[in-house]
Amino acid sequence: MAGAYVYDFSEGSREQAALLGGKGANLAEMTRLGLPVPPGFTIGTDACRVFLRTGAPPAELEGEIADHLARLEASIGRSLGRPDDPLLVSVRSGARFSMPGMMDTILDVGLNDASVLGLAKARGRERFAWDSYRRLVQMYGTTVLGVNPARFEDVLTRRRLRLGAADDLGLDVRELTGIVDEFRAIVREDTGEEFPQDPREQLAGAVLAVFRSWNGERARVYRRREHIPDDLGTAVTVQAMVFGNSGPDSGTGVAFTRDPGTGRAGVYGDYLPDAQGEDVVSGVRDALPLQALEGLDPAAYARLTEYLRQLESHYRDLCDVEFTIERGRLWILQTRVGKRTAEAAFRIGCALVDEGTITWSEALSRVDGGQLDQLTFPRFDAHGDAAPLAHGIPASPGAAVGAVVFEVAEATRRAAAGERVVLVRHETSPDDLPGMIAAEAVVTGRGGKTSHAAVVARGMGKVCVCGAADLDIDIEGGRCTGADGTVVEAGDVVSVDGTAGTVYVGALPLVPSAVTRYLETGARSAGVVEAVARFLDRADQVRRLQVMANADTAEDAARARRFGARGIGLCRTEHMFLGARRPLVEDLILARTDADRRHALDALLPLQREDFTDILAAMDGLPVTIRLLDPPLHEFLPDHTDSAVRLARMRAMGREPAPHDVHVHEAIERLHEANPMLGLRGVRLALTVPGLVATQVRAIGEAVVARLRAGGDPRAEIMIPLVATVEELRVVREEVERVLDEVGRAAGLPVRCPVGTMIELPRAALTAGSIAPTADFFSFGTNDLTQTTWGLSRDDAEASFLAAYLERGILAVSPFESIDRDGVGRLVRLAVDEGRRARPDLRIGVCGEHAGDPASIHFFHEVGVDYLSCSPFRLPSARLEAARAAAGTDAEADSR
Ligand code: PEP
Ligand code: MG
Repeated sequence: MAGAYVYDFSEGSREQAALLGGKGANLAEMTRLGLPVPPGFTIGTDACRVFLRTGAPPAELEGEIADHLARLEASIGRSLGRPDDPLLVSVRSGARFSMPGMMDTILDVGLNDASVLGLAKARGRERFAWDSYRRLVQMYGTTVLGVNPARFEDVLTRRRLRLGAADDLGLDVRELTGIVDEFRAIVREDTGEEFPQDPREQLAGAVLAVFRSWNGERARVYRRREHIPDDLGTAVTVQAMVFGNSGPDSGTGVAFTRDPGTGRAGVYGDYLPDAQGEDVVSGVRDALPLQALEGLDPAAYARLTEYLRQLESHYRDLCDVEFTIERGRLWILQTRVGKRTAEAAFRIGCALVDEGTITWSEALSRVDGGQLDQLTFPRFDAHGDAAPLAHGIPASPGAAVGAVVFEVAEATRRAAAGERVVLVRHETSPDDLPGMIAAEAVVTGRGGKTSHAAVVARGMGKVCVCGAADLDIDIEGGRCTGADGTVVEAGDVVSVDGTAGTVYVGALPLVPSAVTRYLETGARSAGVVEAVARFLDRADQVRRLQVMANADTAEDAARARRFGARGIGLCRTEHMFLGARRPLVEDLILARTDADRRHALDALLPLQREDFTDILAAMDGLPVTIRLLDPPLHEFLPDHTDSAVRLARMRAMGREPAPHDVHVHEAIERLHEANPMLGLRGVRLALTVPGLVATQVRAIGEAVVARLRAGGDPRAEIMIPLVATVEELRVVREEVERVLDEVGRAAGLPVRCPVGTMIELPRAALTAGSIAPTADFFSFGTNDLTQTTWGLSRDDAEASFLAAYLERGILAVSPFESIDRDGVGRLVRLAVDEGRRARPDLRIGVCGEHAGDPASIHFFHEVGVDYLSCSPFRLPSARLEAARAAAGTDAEADSR
């Protein structure tokens, strides 16, 4: 019977991850499936939330734990910490979303001075009992009692060195009893109290420590990175211990139902004889490949492979499993839908569809745009003659180049200064997380494909080579040495190939990935390219949102088309006024007479006409939305300070500056604005700079004529930026139509371009109903709409307080990265609804940065936007996310 806070494994199912945590829910599921799961119970996340809110666990919790423990003891026939043959339990964290290694775990709860002897006797293995007790005092001491872990490690290292032992297996009973004594003395010294002997006190302390670890530094860092809300809390599973360190007929391992690197079917994982799970994950001892178990214990291997098959067909996905063999008996300790590389995600998706296991909609829910982006990152060119510095296990694919760092603090410091770094460690632990986040790649000397470094790097999509045993790493000395004697010092640049598992000295050249080659050329090839191609084909059939590109050169337009754009949703024209053309704009700004102005505009006209003609040719047959000039004019003039210094220097040398320089400086001062973002820009320029609109529109119209005469199918559209009131749009639109008529009459051809507006000011959104009848389309400029809704300038905010807001959790994610649904999003929704009500055939798009952001794309789908327009490189991922939105995938939950 379910209590208020605690649930037996037999009481739940995998649907209950929010309450039981992923681990608790999956243990319940496996218990229901009849797999050999050691019995136990789960304390729900709601108990943790009470603890986080009030600082104390709910009053009922103690009694409920006692009841469930009594039931567990009865089912096993042994009681917690009983002096003869004790029941021991593990106490583990388990949040709704996987946070591997980020919170605390305490094993062997129930051991004390008496039960350690009982355990030794009952199992006939003294060494194993004392080793377990040693682990408990160490783990409990650090996680529950807050003792500095280095104090325990120092004792172990000192004793190992004295005995010349390579690892803990070299420590005998006498050593271990001595270690336990020393550990307990450390606890006494550090806390002023004895290590608790009461097993129930141990259990209660361990549960609270797990609750507390939800707010530990590494858990918080991880949540921020993965956008996991801070208020979910963790569940706690309490499970009867089984022992992989019970001798040579025992062991522990991690198994995957498929290769998490490539998605290939087959049994895959690591096995470590005579060890506990933490030894595999920490990488302190090198594991054997799982296939080795077949030779060591064929019966256990056969059962394991059968359970793996059963789990994959039940979960209909790649699962990873932690298991333990205790004296020949196989136990499954946990399972979850396994983390995988981007390549594996696409390949597994296709494989499962082909096997008839899942539908395409489900397959779409299992990959995301971020993973597709990863597959487009460049790879190293053929390594040629370069001799690798080290070989290791290819734990997380990709190519990365950076300066070697050995310390986490150094990694974060250098990365914050804009440097690319590669973190090199013996092995990683959760404390290294900030360094892993900061680094381009992680290289470890020890550990297998399921070590902490490998699992976390794969989850983050970071390049990782682990277990590079031929690399002699000297952290303190700040150097590492390859097998051939090559020495690499901290700060030296290396290249890390996570696909091949190799590290090279120096920066190797990069080439486009196979997926990028496919996107560029359409050439399909077996493996990941075929899988991606099939997903994108499917996505294009499923999505409702049309996908266009932001492009303002013919070259970008052509690439966008290859990447799947169905037109250009935003062609910014300001870039056409820069570079060699800047002096012409300067002339326009400095013009004092109509004739001067006319002259300057006439010089710009043919240049723009050519640009538009080329872009219309590249996008022949598809819409090209050209936005009239937007930025404030001072952006086309020299910097104010540079100009002032120049004049002052001339005068200091007793020379009179050139009149042109003086005029330019006067113009800079005249155009200076306290707040240019809110000043003379956008449609306001069109209304105040004589001749500007006419010239731009004439260039567009004449480009259309040129393309028509060349037999093309030009589809130019004209977009007016920064409109706040329909009156602005009405006046400019009249002028646009007048000029197009003129061009058409002169050419003897009808030149018609739809005219629309950007919606990028709150007032435009709020009055969308009155603007819509004058606009053929709306395009949300969510960059400016975010700035003006929040009342902040993006550049200023990013340079000053935005990082602090994210750090303190005031914002979960930057509103410039992902649409602020509650504020900006509300304006978008309102403008869509009221715009459409006023004009049912209104086309509505988004062309701000958010159009390429997965979570925002799902929002735009939801509110009924027609098209997205984003940078060409973000198009493949936008196509995929638009399809995922149409298939009903919850982007936020899925991206974790
Ligand atoms: C926008 O404001 O979202 C937009 C696309 O315009 P720009 O970024 O050019 O201001
Ligand atoms: Mg804008």
